[in-house]
Amino acid sequence: MSAPESAHPDTALRPKTLAEYVGQVRLKEKLGVYLQAARGRKEALDHTLLFGPPGLGKTTLAHIIAHELGVNVRVTSGPAIEKPGDLAAILTNSLEEGDVLFIDEIHRLGRVAEEHLYPAMEDFKLDIVLGQGPAARTIELPLPRFTLVGATTRPGLITAPMRSRFGIIEHLEYYTPEEIAQNLLRDARLLGFGLDPDAALEIGGRSRGTMRIAKRLLRRVRDYADVAGETLIGMERAHTALDKLGLDTAGLDDRDKKYLETLIHRFAGGPVGVDTLATAISEDALTLEDVYEPYLIQLGFIKRTPRGRVATAHAYDHLGLPVSDDGRL
Ligand code: ADP
Repeated sequence: MSAPESAHPDTALRPKTLAEYVGQVRLKEKLGVYLQAARGRKEALDHTLLFGPPGLGKTTLAHIIAHELGVNVRVTSGPAIEKPGDLAAILTNSLEEGDVLFIDEIHRLGRVAEEHLYPAMEDFKLDIVLGQGPAARTIELPLPRFTLVGATTRPGLITAPMRSRFGIIEHLEYYTPEEIAQNLLRDARLLGFGLDPDAALEIGGRSRGTMRIAKRLLRRVRDYADVAGETLIGMERAHTALDKLGLDTAGLDDRDKKYLETLIHRFAGGPVGVDTLATAISEDALTLEDVYEPYLIQLGFIKRTPRGRVATAHAYDHLGLPVSDDGRL
């Protein structure tokens, strides 16, 4: 989830300390205590599971944890660890005492690799099978005490034994427009261009509460301002550029609108099963569940019910459609 952004030059803008990390106030407060305690006892931090939609800052937080503890961070992802051998290579080659191992999309770890991870997390040892058939034997490799930071967009897919091995389990929340604006103003300052606070807030309000999206929108708005020869990005520029990008005032893009319009027009507002809806808008159900729906639910535009997805009166309202008393067209 975080690969595209980390390849971008503005990786340098990533906050390095908890203090620089905007928002997530409750999470930061707790994590601050845990980090201080671990530092005081000169211990590795407990294994930490972070969950929440893409682009909210899970990878960034893993780097911050390492930075705050003064240790290195190794980054990998669930799909990259298919076999126990992949896991052994990472755990035995690159980790030092106290280091952070960040596994993004940890719900996509291979089953067998996951089982090998349990003793590594719990007892800091790894069982390795040497040879094959009757001659095979298992040796036990001691590992440094490390901190596993796992990130997932789908906490429901984390198995119970895996979940129980994390001492800290926290979820990240969508950012408010003000929090996003605060971070965009910081980025603009660091990159040396002018950004009006109102313009930052306008971008913040249309970013689906997601830092990664906000940063991307800021880059595009800046393009428009640069081409127009403006040295300060003002409210007017932000407004027109965001309109051109097809984002409405709630931050919904064409795909979100297609989702809502299909739900309302083709399925009479629901309830409709996610697979049916996904087929109708030519997307896969997982993308709907991970990317579109969390924000639409957050806005109160749809509900997930046992019988399927339902559009709420807010959604009708937002699209300018009439709503009857029972919330229907
Ligand atoms: P995730 O791993 O959850 O998909 P990332 O950690 O890659 O998200 O964050 C996406 C982008 O947003 C990065 O450029 C990161 O620096 C920035 N970002 C995310 N959260 C914050 C925050 N709280 N404060 C400042 N920048 C943030």
